[in-house]
Amino acid sequence: MAAQFTIPEFENTSLDIIPALASNARGTFRTHKTKSLQWRLVQLRKLYWAMEDYKEQLLAALVKDLHKSNFESIIAEVDWVKKDCLFMIDNLEDFAKDEKLGAPAVPASFSLMKFRTRKEPLGTVLIIGPYNYPVQLLLAPLVGAIGAGCTAVLKPSEMTPACAMVVRELIEKRLDPNAFAVVNGGIPETNALMAEKWDKIFFTGSAQVGTIIAKKAAETLTPVCLELGGKNPAFVTKNANLALAARRLLWGKTQNAGQVCMSQNYVLIDKDIVPTFIEFLKESYKDMFPNGAKASPDLARIVNPRHFHRIKKMLDETKGKIVMGGQLDESELFIEPTAVLVNSVGDAMMQEESFGPIFAIYPVHSLDQALNIAASIHRTPLSLFSFGSKAENNRVLNEMTSGGATLNDTFFHGSVNSVPFGGVGDSGWGAYRGKASFDVFTHFRTVAETPSWADGLIRVRYMPYDWSRLRL
Ligand code: NAD
Repeated sequence: MAAQFTIPEFENTSLDIIPALASNARGTFRTHKTKSLQWRLVQLRKLYWAMEDYKEQLLAALVKDLHKSNFESIIAEVDWVKKDCLFMIDNLEDFAKDEKLGAPAVPASFSLMKFRTRKEPLGTVLIIGPYNYPVQLLLAPLVGAIGAGCTAVLKPSEMTPACAMVVRELIEKRLDPNAFAVVNGGIPETNALMAEKWDKIFFTGSAQVGTIIAKKAAETLTPVCLELGGKNPAFVTKNANLALAARRLLWGKTQNAGQVCMSQNYVLIDKDIVPTFIEFLKESYKDMFPNGAKASPDLARIVNPRHFHRIKKMLDETKGKIVMGGQLDESELFIEPTAVLVNSVGDAMMQEESFGPIFAIYPVHSLDQALNIAASIHRTPLSLFSFGSKAENNRVLNEMTSGGATLNDTFFHGSVNSVPFGGVGDSGWGAYRGKASFDVFTHFRTVAETPSWADGLIRVRYMPYDWSRLRL
């Protein structure tokens, strides 16, 4: 049966109306209505039901933009946001309530006074999303903003135009239009948004654009949460379950055709086990794609020709040897899951973020060497993965930092939507998801209250000072 909907053609939001959209959201925040928990719960329920009602449009848009399978789209986009809504609805009262401050934070000498932390919405926030999970990575932060009591303007990626249009309609039709708006477009529209004053900017995307956003935000001392990318290492030692390591690492590169900020860029593996690892990779490939990856209905495509050529260039320029995959078809923006055995740390396959279904394998003599190489490529990656003995995994965690880490698997530290997720150093500032999504849009305001009757007891603070009356 033909679909009962059409996905509108992409259109940029007029630059002229962007200031009014921002000012409307700011004006609504100043009415204080978003501070009511009831109002927030209603918006969260509306978002939940909008995700349910627009599910088919969202799935179709994800196919159109990324050829993303419904399986991945439901789990990592539509149901992801619905689960976020339910988690926030279930926990909001608890997250939002004042917290009493007592001993040991408040010393006995101040016990006459009352201290508490109020959880206050930051205000009106800007959320800028990337293309790879165009629904999840835009709307999951929105769940946090709604929960915290903020109003928001959202800027989806223009590289996934179908998703951007469905998301715009869903927000405009279902949520409070005075509190939430979507601006569609690219750099000019983002620049127009950046010219407005925000109470926080939540940006997910590349480190390059994150730097532009952070610099601009600094001019008005606007706080930013940056969720950026990185060159993520995987470590595989002789003590790993090699078949499992190969299967799981290959799986990481098949999800969304490797267009995942958390997946491995390269694998540092003990030189003696490289041939067996490659055999296991090939076996897993056959299991996942019995008729080849191109024929699989499950594998996404690269988002656009620019990114296709960026990834192709890495394969064209590598001095390494393709040991699995290697097929490309520009007409379909298809790139096969590909592993390249490289012989130099300077190879682009090691040094650039692949953000595609390709990864490097680099043989090492020892875990010491592997740790040194990983730190020299990127000291603070978004993720790392370690497949080794318990002691080796602990050593990797101790000696190399990252935003998050998964042991004996790939990117599961970022696959549970209620567990905090974020980068470190230049892979990101701040975290969200679960309670962290509420916290990232909240001001934790300390309030002190001194009872009037206590004035006689605390007179000592008034001039003229008298040490003899002071008891600390
Ligand atoms: P991007 O930085 O190119 O774009 C992100 C957003 O910024 C888009 O909405 C885009 O319109 C806007 N933008 C682009 N250029 C701009 C400019 N010059 N000025 C102002 N705004 C601009 O990122 P992308 O290509 O959409 O996503 C891929 C990158 O995002 C990768 O580096 C990946 O690792 C990272 N990423 C990180 C996470 C995370 O959670 N840490 C998640 C997904 C993607």
